[in-house]
Amino acid sequence: MTLTSLAYRRLRIPKDAPFELRPSSPGKGWGGFATRLIKQGEQILKEEPLFVIPKPTQYITNEDLWAAFRRLTPADQGQFLLLRDNAKQPFMMSKEAFAENSFALPAKFGHGLFLVHSRFNHSCLPNATVPASSNDIITLVAIEDIMAGEEITFCYNNDFECKIRCERHKILRFVCNCKACLVGTPFQQLSDVRRRFIRGLIYLTAGAGIDGKSQDSSSSVIADHRLREAADNLSIPLSNRLIYLLLTLYLLEEEGLLDYLMRERFEPPVVVTSSLFQTESNAEIVKTAMAQKTWQGKMLIAFRLYGRHDAADESLPEMLRMLRMLRSA
Ligand SMILES: [Zn+2]
Repeated sequence: MTLTSLAYRRLRIPKDAPFELRPSSPGKGWGGFATRLIKQGEQILKEEPLFVIPKPTQYITNEDLWAAFRRLTPADQGQFLLLRDNAKQPFMMSKEAFAENSFALPAKFGHGLFLVHSRFNHSCLPNATVPASSNDIITLVAIEDIMAGEEITFCYNNDFECKIRCERHKILRFVCNCKACLVGTPFQQLSDVRRRFIRGLIYLTAGAGIDGKSQDSSSSVIADHRLREAADNLSIPLSNRLIYLLLTLYLLEEEGLLDYLMRERFEPPVVVTSSLFQTESNAEIVKTAMAQKTWQGKMLIAFRLYGRHDAADESLPEMLRMLRMLRSA
């Protein structure tokens, strides 16, 4: 065990925390491991930043970091110096070290340094998440039941359900070895196909890529230019929209990503879905589809709608444009 590893034992962790820090698999450094069963939805950790730098990452300088460090209490300075990891060399105050241990703070412009959250490893198939926060305090929440002894992981980026392995690794700047990244396995190959599909399906229903812009790299997933234009103009018929949405949910489930937060994001409320259709025969199919137990079952019935016009289609693009405007206001 290296001196660095021992240093992590001195990090301040809440007494009742349901996890411990210890070495993970080779190449991953240390990680957080459940010390008891953690139930889905349970809060694993709540943490305040050690300090905040109110600047975008690209403008943060070593001087900013030194100034923030000098303002800390001696005890907090000691905690910060425990991060000397990530190297086996003398600790250097560097932008890179800050970047590796910080999180963007949407509530307050800038980045916060979080000592303990930063110790958890990444997975493209995570069992926990760090939901968007409305203040400086961030939390780690279980998105599925986590068994005692199991490593707790979260996804470092929030759009990885739409990105294939090589795209993810380029962003992460390290090689992830989760199940979705293990080359040569049938799961990994299918995973790339599924995530590419999910990206295209989101483009078709939202008329924009995962970054909210049209004509980005997401649109190139859709080879048919007429279909792409229809997505851009929000003129994809209601029937097809429902099929794309159900297909997205089915693929997310197959990928192992349909946790309760993902369902909140994508799952259409049944009542709303049925009431959107104004052509009676379509509404009947929708009702039957939504009554099926599985996403696959719902999708298979909904396929009967493919290409069918609905009376609601006339006013749909206008309604979607208004919704989009309201969201961005
Ligand atoms: Zn991965």
